[in-house]
Amino acid sequence: MECITVHTRERNQMIDITREVQEAVAATGRTDGLVTVFCPHTTAAITVNENTDPSVCRDILHKLATLIPRRETFYRHGEGNSDSHLKSSLMGVSKQFVLDASTLQLGTWQAIYFCEFDGPRARTVWVSVS
Ligand code: ZN
Repeated sequence: MECITVHTRERNQMIDITREVQEAVAATGRTDGLVTVFCPHTTAAITVNENTDPSVCRDILHKLATLIPRRETFYRHGEGNSDSHLKSSLMGVSKQFVLDASTLQLGTWQAIYFCEFDGPRARTVWVSVS
């Protein structure tokens, strides 16, 4: 298993980690298999989306903020970051990809994003090939 460190700068942010994942996969020495990208955090997530127009990530983050407000009268979690936990569960902490002939199979417009929902922080992403 390979480990990637991601330094986030905002409380809510999507960071393209496609190149880092490709480098981590290469470091395993594997050429084919199933790649799992897993985020071991309860207030972050992994997703796949468009890599060309940055407005897509902005729109996703804005919609998440309207769906899941930072403050709700019913939140009970003592850390005050219930919205971060909810966004993490909604988006999911892992994604899988096909590795074929040393190439991570992604669509032309797809990128792998680390989603920060309680930054800024130093975060970890695990990459394994099976
Ligand atoms: Zn918390």
